[in-house]
Amino acid sequence: MINLPRVHLAHLPTPLLKVPALDTRLGVDLWIKRDDVTGGAESGNKLRKLELLLGRALADKCDTVLTCGGIQSNHARATALACARLALRCVVFLRMTDESATMPLSGNVLLDRFAGAEVRRINGEQYREREMLMAAAARTLAMSGSKPFVIPEGGSNGLGSLGYTRAMGELREQLDLGLGGGRPFDVIAHACGSGGTAAGVALGAARFGVARTVRAFAVCDDRAYFERRIAGILAEARALSPDLPTDPPVEVDDSAKGPAYAVATREQRAFIVDVARASGVVLDPVYTGKAFYGLARAIHRGDIAPGSRVLFLHTGGLPGLLADPEAFRDVL
Ligand SMILES: *Cc1c(COP(=O)(O)O)cnc(C)c1O
Repeated sequence: MINLPRVHLAHLPTPLLKVPALDTRLGVDLWIKRDDVTGGAESGNKLRKLELLLGRALADKCDTVLTCGGIQSNHARATALACARLALRCVVFLRMTDESATMPLSGNVLLDRFAGAEVRRINGEQYREREMLMAAAARTLAMSGSKPFVIPEGGSNGLGSLGYTRAMGELREQLDLGLGGGRPFDVIAHACGSGGTAAGVALGAARFGVARTVRAFAVCDDRAYFERRIAGILAEARALSPDLPTDPPVEVDDSAKGPAYAVATREQRAFIVDVARASGVVLDPVYTGKAFYGLARAIHRGDIAPGSRVLFLHTGGLPGLLADPEAFRDVL
């Protein structure tokens, strides 16, 4: 894999854990890679992508970073805090579909504000034009003498995804040390929201031989949408690092996406509470809870054979959970 400019942001390697209570519950040989603890308040999967994205921004001498996401975007929060650490100006475009609602100050939004990011509120229609909107804002900034750097939704382009290809190299080293059972996994499962993690994990799983296949659990949209997105990101990543494998194995599973983005079913919310009580592992209702629920269902259906070696990649999301505690009142 090619060497690219990188800024150290994440606390690595992240732990690779066995949680016996969850083995029993799921009926597989389950391991959890704790990418929810890549850092402190800035923690989660986005930090691995930002190491390469902001590495490029610094190498290009950019001084202002623009990005976007939903109102409780973990990616926007991680970017805002990383920018504060690197003394970069940060502008985040956050989507609020309910135009009459006031801007919350909870969870990720509070941390965006702590970081001193400039928060620009946009509606659902503007969000669909997010690429154009950010490009226009970047042009305006450039005219006033700034050097802007635009990061797409979720940090999910070819460059960002390579942060997850590197992560699979890290996993290879852990397996070689005898951690995580010391041999490759049958499947790596994780939540998929913008496709960058899936693309990078798939490339890395094939490149470093750490898993036979990758199962990306969609938390919104559908399988066809993500297959297209992931294919686009894979092509970009391979253009940056042509030594990477072609057509790495990745399956999108959209059976656990629930009613809508950031809306979980009662059953999913009850499952999240059940997992926490049985194991101390805290999942969030937007990403990891849906993915882990989807994994449990896939095993139950027989899609993943009993006794398989399964790695669940915990991608973070705690601030989003804490931003909406009332959503859990009926399942506590
Ligand atoms: C962004 C995010 C994901 C999804 O990763 P993508 O690369 O955007 O698909 C999963 N879990 C959490 C907690 C996230 O914040």
